[in-house]
Amino acid sequence: MKAAVFKGAGQPMQVETVSDPDPAERQLVVEVAYCGICGTDLHSTREGPAMLPCNSVLGHEFVGEVVALGKGLQSHWQQGDRVCALPFISCGHCAACVTGRPFECASISCIGLDAPGGFAEYVATSECNTLKLPDQLSTLDAALIEPLAVGLHAVRASGLQAGQRVLITGAGPIGLAVALWARFMGARDVVVSEPAHDRRALALSMGATAVVQPTPDLAEQFAEVAGGPADVIFECVGAPGLIQQCIEIAPRRAMLVPVGVCEQPDTILPFPALIKELSIRFAIAYTRDDYETVITMLAQGRINAAPMVTQVVSLDEMPAAFEALRSPSNQCKVLTRLK
Ligand SMILES: [Zn+2]
Ligand SMILES: [Zn+2]
Repeated sequence: MKAAVFKGAGQPMQVETVSDPDPAERQLVVEVAYCGICGTDLHSTREGPAMLPCNSVLGHEFVGEVVALGKGLQSHWQQGDRVCALPFISCGHCAACVTGRPFECASISCIGLDAPGGFAEYVATSECNTLKLPDQLSTLDAALIEPLAVGLHAVRASGLQAGQRVLITGAGPIGLAVALWARFMGARDVVVSEPAHDRRALALSMGATAVVQPTPDLAEQFAEVAGGPADVIFECVGAPGLIQQCIEIAPRRAMLVPVGVCEQPDTILPFPALIKELSIRFAIAYTRDDYETVITMLAQGRINAAPMVTQVVSLDEMPAAFEALRSPSNQCKVLTRLK
């Protein structure tokens, strides 16, 4: 099969012929229709502690059709089933797997990181983490399930209550997904701080009630548009210094949820957080229930994330599109179409 293969930091991926995946026991092989490019992919192909080995195949935001069935599967699986999957190969029988928290499985590999990913014609998935898509849900919309599940997981982790005021830093795909769910859950104000013009417009089309500039007077701008301070702050950028900035602008007893991925040392001064009795709750990934909820809401037409997709490229075009995302651009979610 054809796959985009990582060739080392500073080099674009190369589309090569690699061997087709064979489904192991209780695995399925999915013919990929779309696979989204994620910030995590950019992180893990950069020089640093998270960099993947040469010849890895990335891609964890995939959707497609079952083409091969491994041994030991339940009888309801068929070739041609349209599916998505939590991008984890996990044991399927530990407490974490059985309760839909495969991210906590002790024998996990992550599809698109340490297991072959979806920037390829075919990808192998674990039965326990694979979900069928309802007919009402288009395959294109289904390509957004993963980033939407990240946003839902973060909003659930925050304990957001209807009527609360929300600040989100950054209008990348995760910031936008958080904005969508914050609005869905009944936040009174959903204010996104973002400097880029196109992303500000996107934020407004995905649920933000206002956008502000990430300038030192952010707290004042927020109070002006929302009529009061933020009850919940989601940090969706992941750059050093931002958690501290959020601590400083947070009002007393606020909830701060860092969702952005920061891999560098990041100093915080705990004292202002202590004085204000802030709650800081990190959130990562998703549960099976997060995925199922996203699928239902998309299929019922109760959420619309389509504006997030700003570009669709072929597998051959993907390596160049991928590298372009390393510099500031107007792109948000870039999808690779494989079929
Ligand atoms: Zn992702
Ligand atoms: Zn397990």
